[in-house]
Amino acid sequence: MNQLSLLNDTDNEPKTSPKDLLTVVIPPLEGEYLYAFDPITCPEIKAGCLIEVPLGKRMASGFILSTNSERERASAEQMKGRGIRVRALPVSTKPVQAITPEHLPFFEWMAKYYAEPLSKIIDLAVPAPSFGRADPSYSSVSVPEAPRLGANQRRVYDYLATRSAPTTLSTLRTHCGASIPILRALIQKGLIEEVGAPLADSPQLSTTSATTKWDTLTDEQQEATKAIQKHVVDRSFASFLLHGVTGSGKTEVYLEVIIEALKQGRSALIIVPEIALTPQLIDRFESRLGHRVAVLHSSLRPHQRWDHWASVLGGKTQVVVGARSGIFAPMKDLGVIVVDEEHDSSFKQGEGIRYNARDLALVRAKLSNCPVVLGSATPSLETFHNAHTGKHALLTLGRRFFNSRPLKYDLVDLNRLKPWQMPSRNVSPVLLTALEETLSQGDQAFILYNRRGFASYLQCTSCETVVGCPHCSVTLTFHRNTNALLCHFCGYTTPPPVACSSCGAKDPGQTANSEVDPLFKHRGSGTERVYEELSSLLPQARIAKLDRDAVKTLDDYTAILQKVRTREIDILVGTQMIAKGHDLPNVNFVGIVDCDVGLHVPDFRAAERAYQLLTQVAGRAGRREKQGRIVLQTRVPQHPSLQMTIASDYNAFADGELAMRKALSYPPYQKLLRIIIGAEEKNSAQVIATRIADDARAICDELGVSLLGPAPAPVEKVRNYWRYHILCKAASAAKLQSIMHRLKRDGVYDKTARIVFDLDPQDML
Ligand code: ADP
Ligand code: ZN
Repeated sequence: MNQLSLLNDTDNEPKTSPKDLLTVVIPPLEGEYLYAFDPITCPEIKAGCLIEVPLGKRMASGFILSTNSERERASAEQMKGRGIRVRALPVSTKPVQAITPEHLPFFEWMAKYYAEPLSKIIDLAVPAPSFGRADPSYSSVSVPEAPRLGANQRRVYDYLATRSAPTTLSTLRTHCGASIPILRALIQKGLIEEVGAPLADSPQLSTTSATTKWDTLTDEQQEATKAIQKHVVDRSFASFLLHGVTGSGKTEVYLEVIIEALKQGRSALIIVPEIALTPQLIDRFESRLGHRVAVLHSSLRPHQRWDHWASVLGGKTQVVVGARSGIFAPMKDLGVIVVDEEHDSSFKQGEGIRYNARDLALVRAKLSNCPVVLGSATPSLETFHNAHTGKHALLTLGRRFFNSRPLKYDLVDLNRLKPWQMPSRNVSPVLLTALEETLSQGDQAFILYNRRGFASYLQCTSCETVVGCPHCSVTLTFHRNTNALLCHFCGYTTPPPVACSSCGAKDPGQTANSEVDPLFKHRGSGTERVYEELSSLLPQARIAKLDRDAVKTLDDYTAILQKVRTREIDILVGTQMIAKGHDLPNVNFVGIVDCDVGLHVPDFRAAERAYQLLTQVAGRAGRREKQGRIVLQTRVPQHPSLQMTIASDYNAFADGELAMRKALSYPPYQKLLRIIIGAEEKNSAQVIATRIADDARAICDELGVSLLGPAPAPVEKVRNYWRYHILCKAASAAKLQSIMHRLKRDGVYDKTARIVFDLDPQDML
């Protein structure tokens, strides 16, 4: 229902009430508000503009949904019926265009799909304008425990804690009554920080003179390019799965299609999983297109984000590369949307409104009458299924561009090796020999271990208790570089204990007598440990590590990859970060220390993710003339994710996995809604979850939807919140939306609980 704005004239408001009407949303308020305005004094007012509106005794920042439409007439009637006068905008009102009206249907679609108010969608998608650079921004610092604060500080802190991007002072002033003293106090307490730096260059106007390189494209690339370009020229929607093995030249196809879009005077939007990947990609795009490319992602500072946004909106740049949130870029006349590495789970937003940029790309393309290309060597099963049921057209690139020789795989069954046969804890003889050969040939190697740290956990030798996080139901990982235990869920960190909290046994500590064993044993490994093992086994090799501990910024990341490129690094050890997209000519060997990491997590996508990771990382090898070689170490050598990686048979993997999904009614055969309930007391989490499940079950029964739970989430406690979850499975999203909608509208639950609705969940933990 509309919440209608209340009276209270200010001197600034016109004395006679103008007849023209507009509707705004004022995030974070959820309702829609009606105002009157004078089109003579404010001719620029139109849908898609940001505008300051009077709200109570203050001014607030609103976003115009529409003017003088049926919506306004209906609201005006309603207000009249209730005897409320429509408030008028001040004559000095200066609107700022944020989107064009053509974008609104996309936001409205999202609001409906995710059962969220339009106001929240706008708040998520549209950055706040920043004109003077004098408007500093703030963001919250994550702390393990909720701090005790007075009401004013709490309001500001809570507001910032829910925002993923930094927020400007002016927004904080309007939305939660922030003032400089309040912000200073929070900074002093280490709860928030000020961010903001001078603006980088904004993109410049240019057009492309590039032409399609038909003569160098392979037949497969030509065919794919033609099929997509046709829809760019025709201005018609079509969705494609570009299923191309690693190194087959998918990016070349994207480039050719983008060139066609630019020739047609249209724009192009490319969504990529990790913004860290974009420096190389941006260079490649700019040099090929001869055209500046705008980059949109959430770690831009607010004013940068706004400036890039405004330059895209103003049509100054026609090519945007963005991470997940780039899907909202205000491009005009889109000619194509590309989703690169479409299988990547980072397209799904993990907090707030849990949208999926890959799915939204399809909707946006449809609304823009343009083709959308989902590209991957290892498509998600949802996309693969859609391509085989005819929802997407399937385009295949079956061969690598430079190298026709297949990758050579060696599988090492760790069950058959005795500890004394291993050169080190994690390195088998086969892996070591392969590395030595790689180095002696002057080639480079990638070593994957998809777990950070030195040891997965510490265990007391006296009572076998494992050292866990006090705030989460997970173990603490030991990081030797920093000599600390770290929770990978909440970031809690502590020095290694000197005594066992369970049995009280004391660690003998560092003594000269090396006969004395330490109290805590290191269990499991991580990249740090593998790095150390390789350093001592191959002292002559130049080894580097790439994971979230080694790279804190984009610059760190670029620097490491640059060193690989210039061959200052022989071996790069890392987590899944090394598996992503890199096209490095001299990497001819890839070793996978433990293929089984992640294989046994309680998530129905575990096998799919393992297959994708193994195939992607293997695809970093042999990208030029030499044959690529891969060694995989495992304790489950028969697992289909491994066997099909070795056979390079995506289709066989997908067929087997899809049969299982079908039998168990999982996506892509059924749509899922996951409801997560968190509370500080375990008992109240259970009680609330049971109540929600009862309410949900009544609706599910009516709609013929199945419901599982409530059950404790696989990770029961995160950041001091005990978590329960409920899973609903339905043939269509519409029924799940109806469940969300009704629970949100009618459900009255304990306000202290956190209730999350995750439609199409990616994360089942
Ligand atoms: P993918 O994105 O499928 O992994 P890339 O587009 O990165 O593959 O292509 C792999 C390599 O092959 C890159 O170095 C790329 O420049 C080169 N390549 C692919 N197609 C062509 C082509 N038609 N002409 C020249 N080089 C190409
Ligand atoms: Zn924790």
